[in-house]
Amino acid sequence: MSKSDLPLRSGDMLNAMMASLGSSRIRTDDASLALLARDAMHPSRLPAGSESARPLCVVSPCNTTEVQEVVRLANAHQVPVIPLGGGSGLMGGAASVTPGVVLDLCRLTEVRIRPADRMVEAGAGATIAALNAAAEPHDLMCGHDPWTVSVATVGGTIATSSLGYLGGKYGAMGDQVLGLEAVLPTGEVITTRAVEKASTGPGLHRLLIGAEGCFGVVTRATLRLFPTPQVRLLEGWEFDDFAAGFEAINALLQAGIRPGLLEYGDDDPSTGHNPPTALYVSYEGPAAVAYAEAQTGREVCLQSGGQMLEPSEVRYFWDQRHASGDAYARARRAGERHGRPEIDYVHVALPPSAVLAYRRESLKLLAARGFHVHQTGLWTHAGLFSLVYSGGGVAAMAEAHAQLLELAQDAEGAMEYCHGVGLRLAPLMRREHGEGLSVLRRIKRDLDPNGIMNPGKLGL
Ligand SMILES: Cc1cc2nc3c(=O)[nH]c(=O)nc-3n(C[C@H](O)[C@H](O)[C@H](O)COP(=O)(O)OP(=O)(O)OC[C@H]3O[C@@H](n4cnc5c(N)ncnc54)[C@H](O)[C@@H]3O)c2cc1C
Repeated sequence: MSKSDLPLRSGDMLNAMMASLGSSRIRTDDASLALLARDAMHPSRLPAGSESARPLCVVSPCNTTEVQEVVRLANAHQVPVIPLGGGSGLMGGAASVTPGVVLDLCRLTEVRIRPADRMVEAGAGATIAALNAAAEPHDLMCGHDPWTVSVATVGGTIATSSLGYLGGKYGAMGDQVLGLEAVLPTGEVITTRAVEKASTGPGLHRLLIGAEGCFGVVTRATLRLFPTPQVRLLEGWEFDDFAAGFEAINALLQAGIRPGLLEYGDDDPSTGHNPPTALYVSYEGPAAVAYAEAQTGREVCLQSGGQMLEPSEVRYFWDQRHASGDAYARARRAGERHGRPEIDYVHVALPPSAVLAYRRESLKLLAARGFHVHQTGLWTHAGLFSLVYSGGGVAAMAEAHAQLLELAQDAEGAMEYCHGVGLRLAPLMRREHGEGLSVLRRIKRDLDPNGIMNPGKLGL
């Protein structure tokens, strides 16, 4: 679409939206436009060539019909639409880089628990905390538990296929989706059947999972719920170094145990210096099963030289696990920026057998560039590896970041396991998917012939 006649089209579109939805749904004031034009990605992480843009307006529809009306009008006037959930995304997926309509989905908050089906039907704007609050009286819980539980929405977590603390046992957000309703870029609504398993062609709901709003807007979803565990046994172990704890984690998984919580990491490692590591795990479910798993887990950890940590330390970790997400939510509500741009991180998915070599190589790469590594670790699975580092200026940081992701791709891994691609990782999408990116682009062109849905994201 040409940018030159955008102001003309957008004026017409805004008038049509006002007439159709009423002014209470539409905001054009500076404060709203500034706040809702961004997510949690720091602007210094915008890739070269991208620039923040002032949105034309923020529209907050109250139901699917209103979402449909917004998308239809935007498509008719060829104006970009940027879906927005809680705005906690770290890759710029909900950031405005073309002047368009910010489609704020936070008013789609209805939640209906279906206890007999162990399912919840939820609007795209409901937070994960709201799902849990509604499920709890039925002795049910959501399997997805991200740091940002209080702010991340059903729509945003589906669109990024987000991962949480309990992902090793219950799966990522994409795994919770049984069915969904979505408004396509040309305005049609699709509803997929919410059943445990269908063999009726490719699962259409999967097209929206991890699609970051580029293929349409998720308006509702039916998600699986799990019984609240009868017991949750939390344990912590210290190991001599990364390799020792890694061995214990693999032995645990090889024994057929899938801990609920699996959080593993060290502090301040560097080439030639392997500090002690801590592993936090939970065994949960029916009491007899959880105690039996804990028994096997203990044997495995002792065999790898593990020493049990004080229960109070593990309890503190568990109780504090949402603290930084809550702090982000508070800062966003207050209109403040949150986060430290001088600290960067990668979250790569590797074959477990490649983890130790990847860790070694990335420590070497960062040491050679004078970066300080704060932490390396694993989350939920033996192959989901994270690394946190700081140092250097913006350009040096961006270069090291890209090299670390390429190193993961070269090790047959994926460049990101939970935060999505957004703007930040878009330049590496060809390297990630090869010819697969052309397939994604063909699907995009077919679903969104005017290219209105979240342009510039996902490398599409
Ligand atoms: C302190 C902190 C901790 C975090 N911890 C975690 C964590 O533990 N695990 C994790 O996975 N992530 C984490 N994140 C990142 C973030 O919380 C997740 O990416 C989350 O899934 C984003 O949800 P949201 O509702 O805020 O989405 P937004 O940021 O609003 O949007 C994310 C993407 O989804 C699209 N989108 C939003 N709603 C819809 C919709 N209804 N239909 C279609 N597309 C839509 C947006 O356009 C954008 O591309 C963290 C972020 C912060 C700041």
